[in-house]
Amino acid sequence: MGLEAALPQDNILTAQLNKLINWTRKYSIWPMPFATACCGIELMCTASSRYDLARFGAEVFRFSPRQSDLLIIAGRVTNKMMPVVQRIYTQICEPKWVISMGACASTGGVFDTYAVVQGIDQFVPVDVYVPGCPPRPEMLREGIMTIQRMIEADNLPRKKDGKRRPLNIALEPNYEPGTQPVDVTVGAT
Ligand code: SF4
Repeated sequence: MGLEAALPQDNILTAQLNKLINWTRKYSIWPMPFATACCGIELMCTASSRYDLARFGAEVFRFSPRQSDLLIIAGRVTNKMMPVVQRIYTQICEPKWVISMGACASTGGVFDTYAVVQGIDQFVPVDVYVPGCPPRPEMLREGIMTIQRMIEADNLPRKKDGKRRPLNIALEPNYEPGTQPVDVTVGAT
């Protein structure tokens, strides 16, 4: 049953255009995955039926930056790959958001080497840092919901040139796994 079935056909709804835009934008985030390592597996898992990112309207992963508005960088990024990340970021239309997923993307993690970028925020603006090595799907989901809350509140800080400033929100680590949606049964008949 859709909204039109619940309301009389000849009624008129009035709303602020800004709120309508934010409402639709909140539930139609199209992520662009940039997954380089083990965090990418958790990223894929977040979109699976078990965690069902579709409930939040953010399951339509696009592999073209021109069709995306949320860049999720999952895993370590090498110096060699950073220009590619920057190019992808600039190709995404405004308004756009960036999630840094996992310790490696945010800080280089255990890879304190000359070849690995020690924090992607040195090169692209990051809105939400998702902690963990790797973060569980629930943590990534919380990161996406954080961005949704900011969209709903229309809390999009803009510079004078119209571009957004990064939100710079770091999620609290959560050591408690969430309630599992269904019991895992292996080999059950
Ligand atoms: S944070 Fe951990 S799980 Fe994620 S890419 Fe780095 S080593 Fe792998």
